[in-house]
Amino acid sequence: MFKGKRVVVLGAARSGIAAAQVLLASGAEVILTDITPLHQMPEAERVALQNMNIRLVTGSHPPALLQGTDLIVKNPGISPNIEFLAAARAMNIKWISELELAWLVTEAELVAVTGTNGKTTTTALLGEIFSCGPRPSAVGGNIGVPLTEVSFGKSREWILIAEVSSFQLEDCYQLHPRVAVFTNITPDHLDRHGTMENYIAAKLRLVQNQTEADYVVVNMDDPVLSALNLGRGKRVGYSLSPSAGADCYADEDWFYWRGEKIAPVAELKIPGRHNRQNALAAVAAAKVMDLPAETIRRGLAAFAGVEHRLEFVGEYRGIRFYNDSKATNPESTRIALNSFARKVVLLAGGYDKGADFRALAGLFRDKVRLLVAYGATGEKMVRQLAQGGFTEAVLAEDLAGAFSRATERARPGDIVLLSPACASWDQYKNFEERGRHFKSLVAGWRDKV
Ligand code: ADP
Repeated sequence: MFKGKRVVVLGAARSGIAAAQVLLASGAEVILTDITPLHQMPEAERVALQNMNIRLVTGSHPPALLQGTDLIVKNPGISPNIEFLAAARAMNIKWISELELAWLVTEAELVAVTGTNGKTTTTALLGEIFSCGPRPSAVGGNIGVPLTEVSFGKSREWILIAEVSSFQLEDCYQLHPRVAVFTNITPDHLDRHGTMENYIAAKLRLVQNQTEADYVVVNMDDPVLSALNLGRGKRVGYSLSPSAGADCYADEDWFYWRGEKIAPVAELKIPGRHNRQNALAAVAAAKVMDLPAETIRRGLAAFAGVEHRLEFVGEYRGIRFYNDSKATNPESTRIALNSFARKVVLLAGGYDKGADFRALAGLFRDKVRLLVAYGATGEKMVRQLAQGGFTEAVLAEDLAGAFSRATERARPGDIVLLSPACASWDQYKNFEERGRHFKSLVAGWRDKV
């Protein structure tokens, strides 16, 4: 399809590099252009680009590159209004997204997940479920691995599970998922799309090529989605309410598919109501792809969540450990605490971004059995919470010290949660490093006790 064609890849980054590689492998002549000068790019990117057999133009996008160009693959972060694309439009040169390219170079079946929230979790959970099934599968898209990296050359037997953002959908024409999953739609990214209508229109591109043979999995608890016409695919609904008439639903104890028990709710490790919704989305998508209940149950039970976001680390001596290092502000910690039905032992603190913790005191009284506060903000946090009437708190120097205090006080049945409500920069490079340190502390403790 691309043999002998000249294709300009607009925007490097990991997805541009993956696109260039696939195009080269398909016999295209590739030009890659990025506004960042080569010497300012991250080293890994620079080295990858320099080792490829492509023409590199960095620092600007000269319109002269368009002479003789057949197609552009555009990074979703780049505005369609830049001069280079205006010139392309005037010359009738089409551009597509890396997602569309991924679709054009594969024969695999596609399960695509979109929505405002829960995309990454649902996609990763589906990855886990399909990995328990009989067909080969791979996960990609807006989830750290460009879809072209996993889609290229895959046969029909394969299942690709993709997280898809509305930005990527803007430049898709032939993309045709067998299953399209819509988690929810709330006002978001309106800065870029302008209006809710435009945002929804972008999302609807996911189903534009679907036929009656395909499926649309829809969250029936979402009022915006419930009212939307979602193309020609067979509509499959999911709901947290057993009486909503959904195909896939949950009661207190089980996840169901059309009356069939799929898995006990208690086996799901990722906490909170929103994660039960994500689980329902995944069960519905797996069911329409013909996976049996026991396979789905195995995948649901094995899934620990997305790393650093309420990630289930393990259960040892009856204590469950969760890593929510991504929670770098009070609001994220509020969401984490609301995800658990019982009180937790909370580790929080870190770099002070000037946050005010007083407003959390009421929630802490309901949800926190013990706070172990640490790091630069530890003392301020304890003081402000006490002003709000929450006093079950102790202080520690750093995360390791906080972990020791927490495990001394935790009893079987407890949850120990790292959800710092602060940035990590006083003691770590980033939240990932902090989260990994927490997990290593859990592993060390597990091996000792
Ligand atoms: P996305 O990839 O769409 O950003 P994630 O799965 O990474 O979504 O979840 C990001 C945050 O969004 C989570 O930490 C949680 O607070 C919230 N969230 C996750 N799933 C849902 C859901 N189904 N509905 C509402 N909020 C959700």
